[in-house]
Amino acid sequence: MIKKFLHQIMFIEIVQGLYLTMKHLIIKRPITFQYPHEKRELPDGYRGILVQLRYDDGSEKCVGCSLCEAACPSRCIKVISDEVNGNPLQRYAKEYIFDLSKCVFCAFCVAACPVDALAMSKFYEYSTYNKRDLILNKEKMLQMGDKAFPIRQKRFDITKKHLNIFNLGKKNFPPVHQ
Ligand code: SF4
Ligand code: SF4
Repeated sequence: MIKKFLHQIMFIEIVQGLYLTMKHLIIKRPITFQYPHEKRELPDGYRGILVQLRYDDGSEKCVGCSLCEAACPSRCIKVISDEVNGNPLQRYAKEYIFDLSKCVFCAFCVAACPVDALAMSKFYEYSTYNKRDLILNKEKMLQMGDKAFPIRQKRFDITKKHLNIFNLGKKNFPPVHQ
């Protein structure tokens, strides 16, 4: 009874709380950052804004297949593809629209892309007053990709040959019997 009374009048919980605060303030290193003046180092697997990549010769990797659009659970990608001028065997993304405000950073689109044209960057500062700023086009995504991944993959010469061989070979495929 007396112990409980003393406990109440001496505000033990407050003293314990203050002790803990002072211990962290004086003895332990603070774990908070003075953001935005200080920025933390992000781990390699960090998933920031989705970006598009180029080959080392500056050409776009994207072939406009729309697999990323099909894989996206948030429906935030829209691809409009077209034939490369003078080469009907090759396609490219004439328009690529990505709505960052809907993205859940799952990276399914990155996994679905057959030519590794997409990557999750470490960019995370995209707060804005206008949500339309979060709708990114191909040019903006490529620009961010150049910044995030300055070392580019070498373009395979075989890419086009593969396409030709596949399409020519298709004529000679045996008929499918039901
Ligand atoms: S990271 Fe996920 S949600 Fe975002 S665009 Fe890719 S598939 Fe869609
Ligand atoms: S980014 Fe990849 S998956 Fe998406 S349309 Fe381009 S090539 Fe296809």
